[in-house]
Order: sequence, then structure tokens, then C-alpha cells
Amino acid sequence: MNAIDYQRAPDLASAVRANSLAGSAIIGGGTNLLDLMKGGVAQPVRLIDITRIAGLDQITTLPGGGLRIGATVRNSDLANHALVRERYPLLSQALLAGASAQLRNMATVGGNLMQRTRCHYFYDVVYAECNKRRPGSGCAAQQGFNRMHAIFGADARLDPNALAGSTAAAAAMNSQGDAGAAHSQCIAVQPSDMSVGLAALDATVRVTGPNGDRLIAMEHFHRLPGMTPERDNNLEPGEIITAVDLPASNFGSHVRYLKIRDRASYAFALVSVAAALDMDGNRVRSARIVLGGVAHKPWRAASVEQMLTGRTLDDATLAQAAASMVREAQPYPGNAFKVTLAQRAVIRAVREASQGVPA
Ligand code: SF4
Repeated sequence: MNAIDYQRAPDLASAVRANSLAGSAIIGGGTNLLDLMKGGVAQPVRLIDITRIAGLDQITTLPGGGLRIGATVRNSDLANHALVRERYPLLSQALLAGASAQLRNMATVGGNLMQRTRCHYFYDVVYAECNKRRPGSGCAAQQGFNRMHAIFGADARLDPNALAGSTAAAAAMNSQGDAGAAHSQCIAVQPSDMSVGLAALDATVRVTGPNGDRLIAMEHFHRLPGMTPERDNNLEPGEIITAVDLPASNFGSHVRYLKIRDRASYAFALVSVAAALDMDGNRVRSARIVLGGVAHKPWRAASVEQMLTGRTLDDATLAQAAASMVREAQPYPGNAFKVTLAQRAVIRAVREASQGVPA
């Protein structure tokens, strides 16, 4: 048995100090971290509980109409908050599509952003090959069971900090070459539904750490795996998520979070789509389309957004836009079905979003 030091942080400064020590881990609801510890995947020596820090469990309005959501707000409280349901129904839909009611009652916003991939090989330490768990060891999923895995952005040569959507990413090859790239590959996907909704709503993550406070656009919070698949996000050592800010949004009335999965509930997405439209009658003024279950981060379908903007929605436009998105797909034998599924999911999500939010 491993001894673990449990500390209840009284304030953020104490939490940052403790979290800067080697072997520390922040705990909120513990709905993912405790599973990882039980399986021997995570072995922290110190748990820093931030759930008693005053103010982190609050949802407050921002000047100009936005919302600030504290890091320890529970997923169920956020999904059912009156202002979230009224102004950001896409976020409410995404949250309610995730996990189970019991898990949503425990899970926090910060923990949701920090949850790790559900790749089976990552969770089972019997498998020696997992670049995310043991960098440089290989990737068992590439030759194994890869039904749940990525079809976008998993090329190890892609710059993890490049924008999803991926023309920019594809241009950003690193200098380590194909051999090194293959050895570092990870085709895991980021599992959070909430993150997909937040990316579509142009959210910003507020963090604090040893070097002070900073903001990270949601679109850049999670990373492509690149040559460092052990890193899921762009937090620096010791940094803690304090809140998520949502700007005032025009995406309040025509949205849809569509999640395709193997079971009707309590299952991770094969493909999910956050579709948000700003409509002028039947014409799309602007659009945000972000996919989950297809990449190591929420995958913004920039080509679809561009092709829908200024257009009236019809079958031909939707089919053309969805087809543009999958030109850069790199499926594996077990997940090739996702290429067609992603297109159909985008078409359906956009159609349903255009019809408004169900009462
Ligand atoms: Fe590990 Fe990533 Fe490969 Fe899964 S896909 S086995 S997490 S390296």
C-alpha cells in the first residue's frame, strides 16, 4: 500500500504552493482521479483538495452578459443553473449527455477539463505499450482495439499547440522525423462532453500558478498528442484551474449537442457534435461546429463553419460542408466507420440546431 498525504487547501495560494511539490495532484470530485489511483495509473503522494476554497463553487455574471463558472462547481449544478439553461443551452445539453446523474453530482468543472482519456490500454497497466502512460514505450491501440480512437490530429509530427481544424496544424511538422514520430504516437481521444460544448462557445479557462494568473482559450487548453502524448493539456507545472469564463453569446437559440455512443447513457462518445448557429431567418450568420470523440482535443471543424456561413441550409450545402471536414481524416481499421459517422452526425446536429432549442 502507498501512503498518501491528504491536504485540504484553505485558499488558492496554499493550493498552488502544495501543488508545486513533486508528486502532488489536485482533487475535486475525484470521479476520474480515484479510478486512476485504484488502477495504479496515477500514483500521487499528495492530494490537494480544493473543494473547500471559498468562491470556487460559485457561478457569477460578468459585465457584458457573460458568466464565470468556478472550478469546483458541480456538473449537475452547472447543467441545471437557470442562466446556463437560458443563455447557454448547448453547455447544459453537453453536460447532461455526460456520465450518469450520480457522477455529475460529484464531478467538478475543473476535474471535467482534467479527465484523462478512456483508452483501455492506458487504464490497464498490464499493457507495457502506452506512450501516454510510459513515454517511448509504443502504442498498443494502433495494432489493437481502436474502435473508440482518434481519426484526426493523431500524427505525432503535428504541433500540439497548433489550432485544430487542421490546415494550420498540418503545416506545423516538427523536426524529429517519421521514426521518432511513430515511436511517440498516441491515438487516444479526449473524453469530456463539456469541453466540446465550451470550445463551441468560445470559453476561456482561468488558471493560477507559481508564475501568477493567466488565461487559456478553451480551444488551446487541450493539446494534440504530438511527440509528448503524456501531456493532455497546456497547463504548466503547479498550475490550477480556477474558473471558466463564457462570453456573452449569440448562440443561445439554435444549438444542438448530439452524442452518438454504444449505449443510450453512461457511455463515452464515438462521435459527438456541438453545433451552434446564429441564424437570420433561414440564413446562417455564423456557426461553431466542434466534434468530440475524434481527436486528442475538441476538434473544431473550421471548414464546415466557413461553408455554412452566409448560406441557407439545404441538403447539398450540408453534405458538401460535412465532406470537407473529413478530407484529412486518418482512420484505423477499427474506427474507419467514424469517417462516415462524423459527417452524418454533423449534418444531423446542424439540421436540429437550425430548428431551435426544444422547450
Ligand atoms: Fe496509450 Fe494513447 Fe496508445 Fe492508448 S492510444 S495505448 S493512451 S499511447
